[in-house]
Amino acid sequence: MFNQRTKIKVLLQSDHIGQDITVMGWVRSFRNNQFIALNDGSTNNNLQIVVNLGLLDDATLKRITTGASLKVKGQVAASLGKGQAIELIAAAVEILGDSDAEKFALQPKKHSLEFLREIAHLRFRTNTFGAIFRIRHSLAFAIHQFFNEKGFVYLHTPIVTASDAEGAGEMFRVTTLPMDGSAPKNEDGSINYKEDFFGKATNLTVSGQLEGELGAMAFSEIYTFGPTFRAENSNTTRHLAEFWMIEPEMAFHDIEDNMNLAEEFIQYLIAYAMKHNADDLVFLDQRLAEEEKLKPQNERSEMGLLEKLRFVTENKFERITYTEAIDILLNSPAYKKKKFKYNVSWGIDMQSEHERYLVEKHFKKPVIVTNYPAAIKAFYMRLNDGCEPGKETVAAMDILAPGIGEIVGGSQREERLANLEARMAAFHIPTEEMSWYLDTRRFGTVPHAGFGLGFERMVQFVTGMGNIRDVIPFARTPKNCEF
Ligand code: ATP
Ligand code: MN
Repeated sequence: MFNQRTKIKVLLQSDHIGQDITVMGWVRSFRNNQFIALNDGSTNNNLQIVVNLGLLDDATLKRITTGASLKVKGQVAASLGKGQAIELIAAAVEILGDSDAEKFALQPKKHSLEFLREIAHLRFRTNTFGAIFRIRHSLAFAIHQFFNEKGFVYLHTPIVTASDAEGAGEMFRVTTLPMDGSAPKNEDGSINYKEDFFGKATNLTVSGQLEGELGAMAFSEIYTFGPTFRAENSNTTRHLAEFWMIEPEMAFHDIEDNMNLAEEFIQYLIAYAMKHNADDLVFLDQRLAEEEKLKPQNERSEMGLLEKLRFVTENKFERITYTEAIDILLNSPAYKKKKFKYNVSWGIDMQSEHERYLVEKHFKKPVIVTNYPAAIKAFYMRLNDGCEPGKETVAAMDILAPGIGEIVGGSQREERLANLEARMAAFHIPTEEMSWYLDTRRFGTVPHAGFGLGFERMVQFVTGMGNIRDVIPFARTPKNCEF
């Protein structure tokens, strides 16, 4: 058996002094032909390995280069040097894989995030990306734990869908028809998708919500957690063409229950990471603090990463209506001094500059905005009763987070068949094709609600990373699909 090693995380956590052990990992650096910093990905902390003079011949020493993989046997000892409590006194060093130092792109120095994006296949081996992706893992695990503890059923909604009714974004077409012009055509010249693989036009899903609602109508509470795809041509630091979304859907919940769950969920995830990824968060907190120092004073965040995370878990989110949000914007110094690029008036779809003003300047904490104008929200959102004509609102709720903007989009769903049909007609959504969806309202409809949390935006929030491309292993964005 090859793998009889001790993981570096375990080694650094408990007392192994005096024990003979084996470690394996990759060389981060090699100083003075004597001190190897070895990392195996289990923690950001490297293990210092001491290679005493005479243990290895010159040829072997030369092969201990940044990036090389090693198997080291030795005895654990208390470290005399500063920076680590223990070290491993090597008795045998085996080089598992060489790494040509001249050609290896990752040098033991600081690289820019932009450069690391170009070598995303290697960036996991840096401190920053090691920390980010261990946290991403923890959050994914915590998501399942949170819902499992509450008795939600994890429902796998389809990736390939025929419904294009959601209107959440542009879709990627899925087809096996030839692209060279020889695809079967209808009389009017359009492509005849009846001849396609599924016998109809199909796309990659933009959201699992509609199918999620079907599940909620049987299990009461479900959640989905899977990849979603949007061919929106928005080259921002908050949008990916392929991203992961968590979508709980709950029967017998109204908008307030929905807000309560979303808030508890976000706080739970943050607390989980703070408990299980303390080292990685301390590292990212320092990284961010250094980055902030390079910014002009007025652009710096008021709180450090850990401070912000603690604050968010300990304080209630602000809750305001869309109408209140618009009033705050209209009365803001930013608006009066014409600092907003986009206009503000009741009915607008708030731009990210508006959302960020509300969370970062005005409230300085996460904000839940409810009751948006019906005209700018999806057809399935529940129409609020007693609205002024022309000012109809729906029971929608978006959660806006400092530094991110929208992190959650949700609503109470329209459970009344007649209302839903009217809304679908207004949005020109053919009801025949959606008959399966309408059946939930025909047979035992109940008040229900749900939301979608963008997983990468959540990882951004917890890690403090400014660009969404840095919190997914291999980003898919317009004109970019490497690796
Ligand atoms: P935005 O206005 O930021 O584009 P949206 O209103 O299109 O978001 P929803 O359709 O409500 O978003 O999706 C639910 C959640 O999914 C959002 O709150 C966000 O966290 C996340 N999300 C949406 N689009 C993307 C994307 N292209 N990349 C990453 N996350 C996304
Ligand atoms: Mn969008």
